[in-house]
Amino acid sequence: GVPVFLHLVFYRAAASPPSCNFLLLGPGGAGKTAFTTLLEGKSSLASKKSHLTHTSQASTLVSVTLPPAVPTASNRYRSVNDPSLKEASRNPIRYRLKDTPGHGKLRTSQGIAELQSMSSSKDVKTKIRGLLFMIDTAALVDEANLRDAATYLHDVLLVLQKRSMGKGKSSTKREADIPVLVAANKQDLFTSLPPGSVREKLEAEIDRIRKSKTKGLMDASMDSGLDAEEDVLGDDDAQGVFTFKLLEQVGIKVDVVGGAVKGDPQEEYGSGVRRWEEWIGMCL
Ligand code: GDP
Repeated sequence: GVPVFLHLVFYRAAASPPSCNFLLLGPGGAGKTAFTTLLEGKSSLASKKSHLTHTSQASTLVSVTLPPAVPTASNRYRSVNDPSLKEASRNPIRYRLKDTPGHGKLRTSQGIAELQSMSSSKDVKTKIRGLLFMIDTAALVDEANLRDAATYLHDVLLVLQKRSMGKGKSSTKREADIPVLVAANKQDLFTSLPPGSVREKLEAEIDRIRKSKTKGLMDASMDSGLDAEEDVLGDDDAQGVFTFKLLEQVGIKVDVVGGAVKGDPQEEYGSGVRRWEEWIGMCL
């Protein structure tokens, strides 16, 4: 039969709870609830957990199974014949996804508060591994929606920048970086913008936001002597144009990846949510 220690190994793997937390943020109507529900549905086949009804007022934390075919950072070099693939389907890798309310005036403050608490947490049960910022890419053609999404994303990135700039000062122990996925949702819609142009539009809009903020801060610091610098996204001089690439200097990697929670999986964009799952896998 199977040696006892192998039984122990498999038992441990099967029984181990999800170990990484991902936070899902974004403007209302982006598709966050739909995405959470989809992942939960796919996972509940395995875990036979009852289906939760999501309200738009409270955060929900769901436990999700990564599809066995999706590689993780530690096993990405395996081949299709690799026995670890079989192993993965027997002992799937799990993670947790926290969805924050998308509606009402509270959403930004609630989402930001959640991010602050998860990013400063030392507890493996609550600390954040990665951040998903979901956007309705069909809604972005409207200026007000673009501004709304960019403002929210700007504030989110500023929290992460402050965290990574602050950690150098206070402690010598390096904290893990928090990568950001801009999930460019609703690619199935005829009117949606492709991920490349979503990236450009967001960068240009964030540039506008930080320039007007810099100006405001400079005016204020004339009177009060406030340190304006650390409140500006993308480091020191806001003279140049903002790009997500700029944030890599402070250890924040932003990827913009297209997908569709809903829509016909037979269509060409039809990787659906797979590319986002692959991004998650690379964090695990
Ligand atoms: P939330 O406010 O971010 O939680 O957004 P919801 O999950 O409530 O989604 C808002 C609306 O967008 C719902 O009617 C969803 O069915 C729809 N939706 C979500 N994802 C997609 C998608 O990929 N394509 C299309 N066409 N509609 C979507």
